[in-house]
Amino acid sequence: MQNTPPRSITVLSGGMGGAKFIQGLLHGIRTGQVPAAADAVVTVVANTADDIWVHGLKVSPDLDTVMYTLGEGIDPDRGWGRREETWSVKEELAAYGVEPTWFGLGDRDVATHLVRTQMLEAGYPLSAVTTALCQRWLTPTHGDGLRLLPMTDDRVETHVAIADEESPSGRKVIHFQEYWIKLRASVPAEALVFVGLDRSTPAPGVVEAITEADLVIVPPSNPVVSVGTILGVPGIREALLETTAPVVGLSPIVGTSHVRGMAEQMLTSIGVEVSASGVAGHYGARSRGGVLDGWLVDARDADQVARIEELGIKAVAVPLMMTDHDATAAMAASAFELVR
Ligand code: GDP
Ligand code: CA
Repeated sequence: MQNTPPRSITVLSGGMGGAKFIQGLLHGIRTGQVPAAADAVVTVVANTADDIWVHGLKVSPDLDTVMYTLGEGIDPDRGWGRREETWSVKEELAAYGVEPTWFGLGDRDVATHLVRTQMLEAGYPLSAVTTALCQRWLTPTHGDGLRLLPMTDDRVETHVAIADEESPSGRKVIHFQEYWIKLRASVPAEALVFVGLDRSTPAPGVVEAITEADLVIVPPSNPVVSVGTILGVPGIREALLETTAPVVGLSPIVGTSHVRGMAEQMLTSIGVEVSASGVAGHYGARSRGGVLDGWLVDARDADQVARIEELGIKAVAVPLMMTDHDATAAMAASAFELVR
């Protein structure tokens, strides 16, 4: 990194892990804990492979988690959906016996999906719809200092193959949301299918956000179904190889487990060791065709630093638990320092 503090910062985010990290990053920029330019612009490129059409509505869980979290509209206990939510629509749909009944469609949240769906049906791309929704959530507090972009405007969906004795093939394929919400990721994911990913193109502004950045951050998001899908959009990996900005990531695995979520199941499904160094190796060093220049592991994983450096990735061990904004800001500051 140049010695001037970074002004353009791009974060490749999933839902909860990414959103919490960005919240701490913005807090750190405001308080001066994080050595960024005072007028820094943070661009979030969010995963959209979790998206699902449900009851005729287009739902974008990761975009909404980032938007609601950074716009102070999130339910802080659940970590997803709107605060002070009610569930009448969901209950009424269930009373009709309409499937799926497992999807958490809150009344307040439905308004977001109605706006999104109507705009999509009127012909606006998801990126334009996202900008419109962010006028309510992000602009009042963050002004031009925060932008949210979907990774792609194209339809991409993660599907999961699981064992099914009743099917002739012994398997069935379900939407990622069904695997996660209905099954609580409680059965092995035998395979992951990223429908539409190889034919997708980056949404407007995504490639530039990477190639013109001063710093790119891979937050502690799910390496397979959040960051992995972003990296799978043709053109995004290439932009990461091309950018002059350093690329630094933070491990979502502490010890041998994810802090919350289902990163363990997803890593196991693709045959990657569930450890901070396992994920680092999966991303790879940018100098060797991968995506990382630097990688932060939790203090408890300090013994993995040497192994990661052998992969050609600078590494440091610091506390990586996002317990509050200050702790998360300290993680962001360490990320900046590592690749300075
Ligand atoms: P999702 O889309 O809601 O699953 O959210 P992300 O993909 O952005 O992030 C989920 C991942 O964040 C989980 O798999 C965890 O491994 C990771 N995570 C959550 N909280 C923490 C934390 O406090 N510290 C670290 N290091 N990782 C965390
Ligand atoms: Ca997600």
